[in-house]
Amino acid sequence: MPNKALFLDRDGTIIIDTDYPNDPKMVAFVPGTIEALREIQREYKLIVVSNQSGVGRGLITQEQFEAVHKQFVKMLESVNIEMTGIYYCLHAPEEKCDCRKPSPKMILDAAEKHHIELSSSYMIGDKMSDVIAGKRAGCNTILITPENHTIGTDSEKKYVGLTASDLHQAVNQIINLKG
Ligand SMILES: [Mg+2]
Ligand SMILES: [Zn+2]
Repeated sequence: MPNKALFLDRDGTIIIDTDYPNDPKMVAFVPGTIEALREIQREYKLIVVSNQSGVGRGLITQEQFEAVHKQFVKMLESVNIEMTGIYYCLHAPEEKCDCRKPSPKMILDAAEKHHIELSSSYMIGDKMSDVIAGKRAGCNTILITPENHTIGTDSEKKYVGLTASDLHQAVNQIINLKG
């Protein structure tokens, strides 16, 4: 049986967005995240797809990036949340790489490696680039956005499946849709 996955943005979705985090002390879960992921991981594999262009832009060092990543992994393990994969794009936009979201490449690579059925999977993130990447990969999408926040331009709206105020609410919507 093919696997289903939740592809998850990291900053602003799982952990609080601190703009190019360079210190492990800055890693903190968005409230409600642990409960949500613990529940949903019984049915969906969890895979992180994250743009970390702070490295490519020279705003943070590779060592700082790795220290933050290690802390992130450690904190997930400490609350028994299992990530099937964690994918990063470290490039600056100017490098015109093929992995940076809104490219679907990280999602497609992960799907191939872990035998994920994309049409039964979701991409959840707090930027338009997240849902564009998800849609391009063939996933369902949930945009995390504070209430009353305008959802992209008209041409971008087609990428937004559902909206939710945070990851916890997004996961609840997935659970409720299944009935
Ligand atoms: Mg984000
Ligand atoms: Zn890249």
